[in-house]
Amino acid sequence: MDVYGLLGNPVGHSLSPPMHEAAYDELGMDARYVTFEPDRTALGDAIFGADALGIAGLNVTIPFKQDALEIVAPEDLASRIGAVNTIDFSGSGPPTGYNTDAVGALRALHDHEVSLEGARAVVVGAGGAGRAIAFGLADAGATVAIANRTEPKAHDLAEEVPRATGYGLAELGQLVANAEVVVNATSVGMETDVSPVPADALHDDLAVLDAVYRPLETRLLRDAADAGATTVDGAWMLLYQGVEAFEIWTGREAPVAVMNEALRSRL
Ligand code: NAP
Repeated sequence: MDVYGLLGNPVGHSLSPPMHEAAYDELGMDARYVTFEPDRTALGDAIFGADALGIAGLNVTIPFKQDALEIVAPEDLASRIGAVNTIDFSGSGPPTGYNTDAVGALRALHDHEVSLEGARAVVVGAGGAGRAIAFGLADAGATVAIANRTEPKAHDLAEEVPRATGYGLAELGQLVANAEVVVNATSVGMETDVSPVPADALHDDLAVLDAVYRPLETRLLRDAADAGATTVDGAWMLLYQGVEAFEIWTGREAPVAVMNEALRSRL
């Protein structure tokens, strides 16, 4: 049996086990996906121990994504983002670290026929998700405005990301009014009915991805739908970061519809 897993703390409410196990069942794989909460000081032991035990692949979540970067050999995008959320043990050298959050956001947008080459994109937030999404959008050819409550963090990130500019939240309305793509990468809207984006700036020539997935239909996405924009909820990003990890580990095409159903039935 192949064992895959998730390192994080806490991981009790993670949706990754049912999402991945639905894929294993669909493809008739003899595999399981389990969660681990290692001590932060023992993260390296946990990762190399997993390799020694023959664990087939690991996801990494809060609070270990940045620390994991120092332990594995990160591929280029993970290195630029500064965080690893997927570890692959299949090579002959040290474990390889990937960041599939960026690709997850891009595949979610692509799935909704949002084109990014040459697009003006706004990322709200400059934390972990904001970093991943800003690099991903830039790699896909978009011009990226990063707006963050703590404005210096937006400027710092914009210096690292190609074709990016940093702003505070005061400029957000105008940025959104002139954009084709907006991504909420803040926690605003999680479990609360508030939006990080002024509703009157939203328009019908816009695609809006909200990384928040609890609730699925956030205030931002409701406002965006009312304005006639294309809406993409956070479960699509969550789905595709998992799909990407599955494909890295197995080299097989993931059964996306089955994974999507397993995820959405639990949200
Ligand atoms: P994080 O590193 O803690 O960053 C939080 C971000 O939210 C920062 O930019 C912070 O701004 C901003 N923020 C927090 N409270 C705010 C407020 N009241 N007003 C304005 N901005 C505020 O968190 P993260 O890991 O990036 O996660 C952000 C969100 O993305 C979470 O809801 C998480 O669940 C979601 N997420 C979803 C996926 C997915 O697959 N769908 C993946 C990753 C994350 P400051 O810098 O000013 O503090």
